[in-house]
Amino acid sequence: MVNLDEVKAAKQQISDLIHRTPVLTSGLLNERTGNEIYLKAEHLQKTGSFKIRGATNAVKRSIEEGAQFITAASSGNHGQAVAYIADQLGVPATIVVPEDANRAKVAAIEAYNGKIVYCGLTSADRIPKAKQLAEENGGVYIPPYDHPLVIAGQGTIGLELLEQVPDIEIIVVPVGGGGLISGILTAVKEIHPAIRVVGVEPETANDTYLSLANKQITAISGTTTIADGLRTSQPGQLTFPILQELLDDLVLVSEDEIKEAFQFTLERTKQLIEPSGATALAAELSGKLETRGKKIGVILSGGNVDLKQMDQFLPE
Ligand SMILES: *Cc1c(COP(=O)(O)O)cnc(C)c1O
Repeated sequence: MVNLDEVKAAKQQISDLIHRTPVLTSGLLNERTGNEIYLKAEHLQKTGSFKIRGATNAVKRSIEEGAQFITAASSGNHGQAVAYIADQLGVPATIVVPEDANRAKVAAIEAYNGKIVYCGLTSADRIPKAKQLAEENGGVYIPPYDHPLVIAGQGTIGLELLEQVPDIEIIVVPVGGGGLISGILTAVKEIHPAIRVVGVEPETANDTYLSLANKQITAISGTTTIADGLRTSQPGQLTFPILQELLDDLVLVSEDEIKEAFQFTLERTKQLIEPSGATALAAELSGKLETRGKKIGVILSGGNVDLKQMDQFLPE
């Protein structure tokens, strides 16, 4: 299992390559929820999401160990993050994306000098391809969440938040494959075990919720939640045991609740986040966390949206 020292080491490795993101507050948000909310602004992070933290930690270490080529299998934020950091560190990257990948996302990867390879429609098609390309070219394949260095990199958010809001009582985190939340749990629970860490999933992408209930990794079949960063079908082999041991609670939110949080953030705080990045706030705004008078950190995990799709993200 990943430990606090590895998260601290990740912080050392990545701090000159990424932003220390600000914590934002809103008087209206505090009034509406009856809590003190601290929004950790990872949508203002390099490449527009927290994924750059884990990607930087893993890619940098791979290069130190001799990798001359990097691959990933993601058309989303992880693909962008890996392409960006490989380019920054002077190593070529190939990102394997589905044949129906969104044009805007492919363009973002190409803008970071990532080479695109199209393959199949599912991650079961893409991952073996990305691994094979790495193997054939003296390279390393970087997974999006189920890797100790990726988890440790994501955990640096927890260390930063404790520095920025030392008396924080609750941290609310969106859950996809679980890399982000298991990193934060690893960092925070070892320093301040009393801090509650709560995960949030869309109702229609409740694989971690079901896995915790069943006490074993449980897969769901395809989901179409607007929170596309949370569409993983099951938690990871490394991330799930960390959640089982350390997570305090996991809350589900509806698509409408995500849309309301998206609209609130844009209208009231003037911040453009993506639906996955609105999911943790949706749990707080909907009242599902049942908290009063608490200091709560909410992770706004990313801000990459295709503006043409924005009407789908707004409530009816
Ligand atoms: C990847 C991602 C998540 C989920 O992170 P996991 O480590 O897969 O749990 C949440 N929000 C955004 C914006 C993401 O890109």
